Amino acid sequence: MPPEREQLEADVLIIGAGPAGLACALHLANLIEQHTQASKSPALSAENIYVLEKAREIGAHQLSGAIMDARGLRELVPDFEKTAPLDTPVTGDAAYYFTENDSWKLPITPPPLQNHGNYVVSLNKLVKWLGGLVEKKGVNLFTQFAGRNLLYDKAAGRNGIAGVLTEDKGVDKNGKPKDNFTPGYELRAKVTVLAEGPRGSLTKELVNNLKLDGLNPQVYGIGIKELWDVQPGRIDTGYVAHTLGWPLSSDLYGGGWVYGLRDNRVSLGMVVALEYHDPLFDPHEAFQKFKTHPFVKKILEGGKLVRYGAKTVPYGGWYSMPRSYMDGGLIIGDSASLLNSQRLKGIHTAIKSGMLAAETIYEALCSGDTSEKALSAYKTKLENSWIKKELWEVRNFHQAFHGGLWTGLAKSGIQFITGGRGLVDPMHSEAGYKEYEKLNRDRTLVDQSTRFRGDGKLTFDRLTDVYHSGTRHDEDQPCHLIVLEPNICGDRCVREYGNPCQYFCPAAVYEMVTDKDGPKLKISAANCVHCKTCDIADPYQIINWVPPEGGGGPNYEGM
Ligand code: SF4
Repeated sequence: MPPEREQLEADVLIIGAGPAGLACALHLANLIEQHTQASKSPALSAENIYVLEKAREIGAHQLSGAIMDARGLRELVPDFEKTAPLDTPVTGDAAYYFTENDSWKLPITPPPLQNHGNYVVSLNKLVKWLGGLVEKKGVNLFTQFAGRNLLYDKAAGRNGIAGVLTEDKGVDKNGKPKDNFTPGYELRAKVTVLAEGPRGSLTKELVNNLKLDGLNPQVYGIGIKELWDVQPGRIDTGYVAHTLGWPLSSDLYGGGWVYGLRDNRVSLGMVVALEYHDPLFDPHEAFQKFKTHPFVKKILEGGKLVRYGAKTVPYGGWYSMPRSYMDGGLIIGDSASLLNSQRLKGIHTAIKSGMLAAETIYEALCSGDTSEKALSAYKTKLENSWIKKELWEVRNFHQAFHGGLWTGLAKSGIQFITGGRGLVDPMHSEAGYKEYEKLNRDRTLVDQSTRFRGDGKLTFDRLTDVYHSGTRHDEDQPCHLIVLEPNICGDRCVREYGNPCQYFCPAAVYEMVTDKDGPKLKISAANCVHCKTCDIADPYQIINWVPPEGGGGPNYEGM
């Protein structure tokens, strides 16, 4: 029998306390405050806004490069420069092309990578600060709670959502209640906002169930990042460099970054599109090699790794946007495909989409109508905002690189001249996992003994990096990585693709082992840094990432 669950009712329930979710909560609380001061009815209260966050504290799962275009934040908190934890304004920028031993600085930094007027920030710190502002407004922020299941609203004439069930706490790895068992809550709301970031588990389910897909399937990149403390004088504070080329071949879409932060700290990383052909390609190894390039090595040598993390990035843009309104629900931020992949920026659009959602919800609550028709005002507001203008100009950008770097640069040049249209508009794309080429081997596991180990100083193996991500999960809980057809792993996948999960996972969660029955998959779920790559990049789409018990996962302090 399902356990008896406590029911809570809110006006608005926001799933995910990232920039989009917190901007939505803060702007809505501000609107309610103004409304109360103007003594209009009906009675609305910030206390009736709930925000759920699966991390152990606000910001702990937030990771980005990050260079922030302050446009969104300036609209949300006009005097943000007085109190926001901005690391440094960008003081100089450059783009480089790398070969294995050399680098060429492009004579002009391409306009999308020009960052004058932007800030280098730690998204973790920025989101913590935003969380503080939201709490001060009286909004209820619940950390260590994940939305585990959606509650659907199938009342007469409606086809939407009505809230979520949070996960049961205190369940052992066999699914049995432990002494500390607490059933999840049934949280109901007039409007539920999905702000889960890229590849949200509830968003994925909702888009599938209500058939909300955009024109193109969503495509993603994996971003892998390290923070380093380096010797003084190695890089100027506020200097940002973006790189193309080595160690990525020209058929891979991606590149690296190196940003100089305050106090001799450096943010560096690499983003690679999850649509490569070689199923044994290892993004973590590629990033480690990137650090051995003379340009990067010179900055890092003698320094110390401080933090590590990984996260996916939604590249699809406007044409991958799902329908983001339904009865009782909205989708915002990265979950709604609002990142500008050409500029590699999504914090400003996430914040703005949260604000537009807040305005839509405010009007809906005041009119007592939270139907799909009323909430479709969110789409109209997006269409009329600078988000649309910005994303429309790059609507075909990522698709242009399907044939490789050089043709992509040529096509994107034509798009630039034609306001985003290019030679074909819309350009279609396929989900990235369809790009793998089959290996067609026998049923023998690929030898892992020669995998990259790192030197322990400049380069590291994945387990050392996971240690630096601060990841922690209770090991005695059901596995949150659900393999829907495990037989495929030990047979078909061995033969066809050589088990790519062992390569694309940046946290060494997946390992193929052999027992008396032959090859089988071993999952070390406690290592998981919640990047969602496996849910996206598995060639058979049989890995379903669901949130583990709230509070588990990485601790991206300063990331
Ligand atoms: Fe990322 Fe999946 Fe590995 Fe977790 S198990 S770190 S979500 S690829």
